[in-house]
Amino acid sequence: MDILPILPNDLPDRPIIIAGPCSIETPEQTLSTAKQLAQSGIRIFRGGLWKPRTKPGQFEGVGSQGLPWLRQVKQETAMYVATEVAAARHVDEALQAGVDILWVGARTSSNPFAVQEIADALHGTDVPVLVKNPLTPDLELWIGALERFYLSGITRLCAVHRGFGSYDRQLYRNVPHWHIPIELHRRIPTLPILCDPSHIGGRRDLTASISQQALDMNFDGLMLEVHCSPDDAWSDAAQQITPEALRQLLQRLIVRRETAATEELTELRRQIDACDQTLMETLARRMHIAREIGHYKKEHQMPVVQSGRYKDILERYGAQAERCGVDGRVLKQIFEAIHEESVRQQVEIVSR
Ligand code: PEP
Ligand code: MN
Repeated sequence: MDILPILPNDLPDRPIIIAGPCSIETPEQTLSTAKQLAQSGIRIFRGGLWKPRTKPGQFEGVGSQGLPWLRQVKQETAMYVATEVAAARHVDEALQAGVDILWVGARTSSNPFAVQEIADALHGTDVPVLVKNPLTPDLELWIGALERFYLSGITRLCAVHRGFGSYDRQLYRNVPHWHIPIELHRRIPTLPILCDPSHIGGRRDLTASISQQALDMNFDGLMLEVHCSPDDAWSDAAQQITPEALRQLLQRLIVRRETAATEELTELRRQIDACDQTLMETLARRMHIAREIGHYKKEHQMPVVQSGRYKDILERYGAQAERCGVDGRVLKQIFEAIHEESVRQQVEIVSR
C-alpha cells in the first residue's frame, strides 16, 4: 500500500496526538474541552457523534445536531476535528460539515459490509481515515478493512490499536495483544499506527503507563479520551482524563528517537516487549484460574497440593521445552516459582 501522511501539512510527525471526549454531549462540554486542549498545543480534536453502543438504551450520541459544535471548535481553536462514522449517511453529513478526519470504530471494522458501505461513500474524496482494530484479535479482518478503504481511493490511512475484547476482563478493558499491531507494522511498514490507551485500559489510572508502553513500542502516536469533567461524561466516564491530566501525561512521556543503525535492534526489542506483555497477561490469567480452583477446593474440602498433578505438569512441559529449544532446568525453575505462588494463594483462600 502506498500510504500518505494522515495530514500532509503543518503537523509534527511523531507522536501524533488526537484527544477529545468519547462523546460530544453539549456545545459547552465540546468547546470547553477543545479550548483547554488547544491551549496545551493539541492539534487534532476527537469527539463521537454517532456512538454504536453494546446495549440498547445507552446514550447513542447526539448525532448530526453536534456537527455545528465541531465546526465551532475548528473556527475557535483552529484544530482539526475528527469523528466516528458507522454508515454512509454519517460520512456524507460529516464531510458536508467540514469534519477533517474520520474514524471507523471497532464494532464497525469488524463488519465487512459496513466497512464497504463507508468506503464506497468515501470514493472520490481524499479525507484521512483511521481504522480501529476489530473487536476480535483478527489481524486479517483489520487489514481487510484497511484494504477496502485503500481500494476505494483513500490513501491517507492510519490504524488505531484499541485492544481486543475478551470474555474474562482482567486488568484491561480490552486486552492489548501487542504482537498484533506489531505484526501489522511488519506487514504494512508505511502505515502509521496510533494507540488508544483509553479503550485498552478502560480506567484513567492506566492511561499514562499504556501510552508510554505504546511509544516505547514505536507507535506513531496516541488517540486519547479527554473530557472537561470526566466523571460526568455520558459515555466511558471511567476512562476519560481531564485536559490538565493529559498535559501532565504528555509532559512526562518519553519519546524515543530511533537512528537508522539501531532499527534492527529496536525491532527485536519491540518483539521482546510484546512477548513479555503476553507472558504477563497469561500469568495474570493463570493466577486468576488458580484462585478459582482454590475456591473449588475449599468448597469440596480438598487439599491444596496434589503432588501427582504437579509432577505430571513438570514432566509434560519438561519434555515439550526440550523439543522447543528451551532449557528444561530453566523451565522447571519458572514453573516451580509459578506453582509456589499458586499454592500460596490457594492456601490463603482455603484457610480464610
Ligand atoms: C470511541 O472511540 O469512543 C469508541 C467507541 O471506540 P471503539 O470503537 O474503539 O470502541
Ligand atoms: Mn469511548
